[in-house]
Amino acid sequence: MKGLYRLAAGLAATVALSISSACAGPGAPVATAADAKAFLDNVDVTMTRLGIAQAQAGWVAQNFITADTEALDARATQAAIEAVAGFAKAAVRFDGVDVPADQRRQLDLLKLSLVMVTPSDAKEAEELTRLNSGLRGTYGRGRFCADGADAEGCLNIDDITKVMASSRNEAELRRVWEGWHTIAPPMRKDYARFVELSNKGAKELGFVDTGAMWRAKYDMPPDEFTKELDRLWEQVRPLYVQLHAYVRMKLRAKYGDAVPADGPLPAHLLGNIWAQDWSNVYDLVKPGAADAGFSLTDILARRKTSATDMVRAGERFYTSMGFEPLPATFWERSLFVRPADREVVCHASAWDVDLEADVRIKMCIQPTEEDFTTIHHELGHNFYQRAYKSLPVIFRDSANDGFHEAIGDTIALSVTPEYLVRIGLLDKAPDASRDIGLLMGRALEKVAFLPFGLLIDQWRWQVFSSQVPPADYNKAWWDLRLKYQGVAPPSARGEQFFDPGAKYHVPDNTPYTRYFLAHILQFQFHRELAKIAGCTTPLHRCSVYESKDAGQRLNAMLQLGLSKPWPDALEALTGSRQMDASAIIDYFAPLKAWLDEQMKGQKTGW
Ligand SMILES: [Zn+2]
Repeated sequence: MKGLYRLAAGLAATVALSISSACAGPGAPVATAADAKAFLDNVDVTMTRLGIAQAQAGWVAQNFITADTEALDARATQAAIEAVAGFAKAAVRFDGVDVPADQRRQLDLLKLSLVMVTPSDAKEAEELTRLNSGLRGTYGRGRFCADGADAEGCLNIDDITKVMASSRNEAELRRVWEGWHTIAPPMRKDYARFVELSNKGAKELGFVDTGAMWRAKYDMPPDEFTKELDRLWEQVRPLYVQLHAYVRMKLRAKYGDAVPADGPLPAHLLGNIWAQDWSNVYDLVKPGAADAGFSLTDILARRKTSATDMVRAGERFYTSMGFEPLPATFWERSLFVRPADREVVCHASAWDVDLEADVRIKMCIQPTEEDFTTIHHELGHNFYQRAYKSLPVIFRDSANDGFHEAIGDTIALSVTPEYLVRIGLLDKAPDASRDIGLLMGRALEKVAFLPFGLLIDQWRWQVFSSQVPPADYNKAWWDLRLKYQGVAPPSARGEQFFDPGAKYHVPDNTPYTRYFLAHILQFQFHRELAKIAGCTTPLHRCSVYESKDAGQRLNAMLQLGLSKPWPDALEALTGSRQMDASAIIDYFAPLKAWLDEQMKGQKTGW
């Protein structure tokens, strides 16, 4: 369900933190401001060219999974990474040169622009990119084939997702949960080697390890950033703990002793293979007298709404706020439906193939509420990409990587019953008596996600830093899932398993903290846009659909791209320079009060 934003994969440019400059040494020619300008012009042209080649190869590799497209993708990725790594190292030459501020920022960003750095040794570089592509491909081809099942009977991730969402049979859920996790052990050895080589590359750029490189990207010292994450998590943790305890009580009523009275929640009973989104157990935990009053999934099915119609509805949201319609190429080149005759990576993603106008989404759309919302999310990436398309290529990215994920979700928060009425999908919005139901549904998605969003990179940072050696990969994974999520596996998970590999973003090597930040930021953005739109109803009933004022203010932030530090961008929209999770508390206040009432005298925590 989480979309992957993909600007020329692997080139996810981010926010600067100055790296100590290397002295050019006596005798080296002195670089001038004119040299710096010429250097950056060349960077702009080269990165654009290689970025487009990489995006094209990546698009084809994910739409036609074969050994050859994997190789082409790996080659294009390697070429782009090598070029950026070269530029990053060369940029140090201009550290002492007096250049205009926007050029200084580009030079700084170059040094922080890679998610993965290949070592300078050609053989190792080739091995690392091959491992990177191979891990991604292994995940994409992942199937659970039960004993005796023929190819037809094997379950891909879509099938697994459906069973996890709909089955209420504990034994079946356990079997399928364990089954999906069989795709990952073959990645284990490759992943350990991947970590080793990717760290080697990061060190060559002056970082302690790859995790430190990822954390250096947030306009503040890495340990200060970690503290900032803790501060935000502490703002929302009491709400999560209360939701966790309530869901546990309800699941125990359904599944009996398979759910402990006061321990962690079983990972296979939360309606999602990763227990990162609990929306699918809504029917088991919904408040008795406060059903949400309608099911968008049922409405879409009844109307036989096509995938294209769903995307058209998403586009209309943005145009109603004053954004330009999507180009014809979007409709010609996007993938909306899983092809019957070939392997594709169905994980929803948004692309900007020519870094200018050739935006696309790639999704295997089902007529469900979840996919309807995901479409609004993915299109957020495309509209962001278009808003900053005129900037130098290094600045064509979000203010920090959480912003890109937050924008689409902010718009999705405006997919309210009132909005569905306005676009003709719903006859009448349910009255306020249904609010607890509406908020419960959303909390199962958004609040339940927060600790998961935090822990993926906690695990990877520890893996990259060697604090967790390969021999403890799985133990560390489950320790963190227990600590943050209060979730435990259905059976013992020793080191013969590699459970992190069963989560897309690990084999894909996509940093994950962005999703945590996005979940915080989207409520902050929503609260502010709702205010600008003049919304007077409770926050969870506000939609900024058709508000040109909100659209203008949103665009003021989007068009900055990465050209300014992220607090500047945050300020352009919200007027504040600090991330603030209190908007989540505001949004869910009625639910929190209700949960407190339900759980009075009951034990919470695990
Ligand atoms: Zn996304």
